[in-house]
Amino acid sequence: MKIKKYKEKIIAVVIFILANIICPIIVSKIENVDFKNAFTTIWKKIFEFIGNVLTFPIPIWGIIIAIFVLYIILRIYLKITEVDNKDESWYKNYSSDMYNGLLYEWRYNRIGNQIEIKDVTPICAECKGNILPKDAGYKTVLYCPNCDRTYKQPDEEEYDSARVYFNNKLRKIIKEYNEKQN
Ligand SMILES: [Zn+2]
Repeated sequence: MKIKKYKEKIIAVVIFILANIICPIIVSKIENVDFKNAFTTIWKKIFEFIGNVLTFPIPIWGIIIAIFVLYIILRIYLKITEVDNKDESWYKNYSSDMYNGLLYEWRYNRIGNQIEIKDVTPICAECKGNILPKDAGYKTVLYCPNCDRTYKQPDEEEYDSARVYFNNKLRKIIKEYNEKQN
């Protein structure tokens, strides 16, 4: 998890190092000089460029506005990545549960603060795989082809009850989380 946090910085450093190796190699080939010479030439040019920019007559207020704008952009960028990296495991860990002897799983749909349980499906309690309806003579059962196990198929009422049961538990999880945040 820590590495993920620093991923962008690590990539930037690696690109910087690679650029410092690849660019002098290209320049040394073109200019027909050795690597050391090419390396110093590139950095001399960069510092010359920075020097020229710095000595160029830009009014102080221009610099202040530019820094301010950059600061605002950076703040917005950090805010966006902060939202993206928001930890969702506190509710996503609750993605399967038992109801009436049958194990179900589901996925989540989140729009802003609205968290919804979607596609509640019964799964095999043994291997957590998908199970499918199978005709067992007088009734239909749910069957796992991997474990050769059968489960009682829930009727519509029971399935709805299961969904409400999981939704109510999720609501409790959200409530507890929000209370902890405040
Ligand atoms: Zn199974």
